[in-house]
Amino acid sequence: MDSLVTDLDFIDNRTPEQASAAACDTKVTQETNTGRARKLYIESYGCQMNFSDSEIVSSIMFKEGFDTTSQIEHADVVFLNTCSIREKAEQTVRNRLGQINYFKKKKPGLVVGVLGCMAERLKKSLLEEEKIVDLVVGPDAYRDLPNLISEVDGGQKAVNVLLSREETYADINPIRLNSNGVSAFVSIMRGCDNMCSFCVVPFTRGRERSRDAHSIVQEVQELVKQGYKEVTLLGQNVDSYKWASEDGTEAVNFAQLLEKVALVHPDLRVRFSTSHPKDITDEVLYTIKKYDNICKYIHLPAQSGNSRVLELMNRTYDRDWYINRVDAIRSILGEDCGISSDMISGFCTETEEEHQDTLSLMDYVQYDYAYMFFYSERPGTLAARKLEDDIPLETKKRRLAEIIDRQREHSLIRNQMVLGQVHKVLVENFSKKSDEFLSGRNDQNKVVIFPKKHYKKGDYVNVLVNDCSVGTLFGEAVD
Ligand code: SAM
Ligand code: SF4
Repeated sequence: MDSLVTDLDFIDNRTPEQASAAACDTKVTQETNTGRARKLYIESYGCQMNFSDSEIVSSIMFKEGFDTTSQIEHADVVFLNTCSIREKAEQTVRNRLGQINYFKKKKPGLVVGVLGCMAERLKKSLLEEEKIVDLVVGPDAYRDLPNLISEVDGGQKAVNVLLSREETYADINPIRLNSNGVSAFVSIMRGCDNMCSFCVVPFTRGRERSRDAHSIVQEVQELVKQGYKEVTLLGQNVDSYKWASEDGTEAVNFAQLLEKVALVHPDLRVRFSTSHPKDITDEVLYTIKKYDNICKYIHLPAQSGNSRVLELMNRTYDRDWYINRVDAIRSILGEDCGISSDMISGFCTETEEEHQDTLSLMDYVQYDYAYMFFYSERPGTLAARKLEDDIPLETKKRRLAEIIDRQREHSLIRNQMVLGQVHKVLVENFSKKSDEFLSGRNDQNKVVIFPKKHYKKGDYVNVLVNDCSVGTLFGEAVD
């Protein structure tokens, strides 16, 4: 089956600024055209977890008689799968609802649903605040969609925002909604128990729970049969993955899960996100080292380089601990291993000196890549309740610009480091600028562009890297 989700912002030639913006990508469904009676259009915002959830939602709706469409004007039902992580993400959705009103006026029977984190955060009040919304569904309630849709069909508004301690959608076989037919997301856990003080996720996605390891391996085996070449295991904190069978005879931690997935097929690339600095173990690092097909790339968000700020953020590690984990990555996996981060500028009470600590941590690690944000207070979080959001917006933005500038320097240095090397690239698409060039990623998750020759999507190609920009490597295929 063709892919059902289109990436509107294909990550090609990204600079760190673009990457920062792309942390809030949008994806829309594509046409399925299997002759089902009604059409569903989903727009997904925010993190990879949401894109993966939209695949589950599409799968549930497909069984209920909905094809998906890429054209909102052809839709009978429109879902926005939303993100609450920053105020701007919510504002984007509200603006989009304003635009969708135009379609609803032309087609009054159009059903409009808000799904995901914003639904969970605002619950029923969303129905009052946004009159065009018919349906509000939290991330643990997607199985209930058929009932909710029939309530709406019967002329009512419908809400289900119940969070669950068990739901992992393990038995739902996602219609594969990936954008390129080469790489797929596999959700291995849901929720988060970490309570970082700035973060709304524990409130919108509920308690952490790990998915049955057998169902994960099975899903990956299915993907391999369908020709997929890469999986990304997803969770807010993959290192705390922990599953045990009900009879207590089996227990699987993240390192063991990684190994099981790597063993599914030697040609399947395995990625994972996100690692938490407090939980990433040497056992995980040695497992990455042991298997060629586990990518040497770790997304290890620091958030800040200052121990006092990290404590206020309730990250439960300090600067030294973080540096120790980076040192472990370097000593076990070597200088080549890609490391990326998330950084927040202008958190409550952050001083100029503390901001300088973030820059100096960046100098120490030399990240390949980073998602960078200024602090946005979120209602209900620990920080909103206990700390004053006292850094002026201009200061937050200026510090963010400094962080982005520093990251540009480091991305360029890290890219220059590989000039003259041959890298194995998994081809994902044509380059955005020309169909004569292909675009893929290397082990370290860097985008590599090279002339197409006879190669095609899904091929592994050895590419000699001969040029680079801040966001991209360029090269020539070598046989
Ligand atoms: N679970 C991941 C972790 O702990 O690293 C990250 C999840 S969150 C969806 C992605 C990133 O958004 C965070 O790492 C953080 O940098 C950023 N973020 C979260 N809350 C934020 C806020 N209130 N203001 C600005 N950035 C925020
Ligand atoms: Fe949010 Fe922290 Fe959980 Fe990441 S680990 S989702 S930042 S609470």
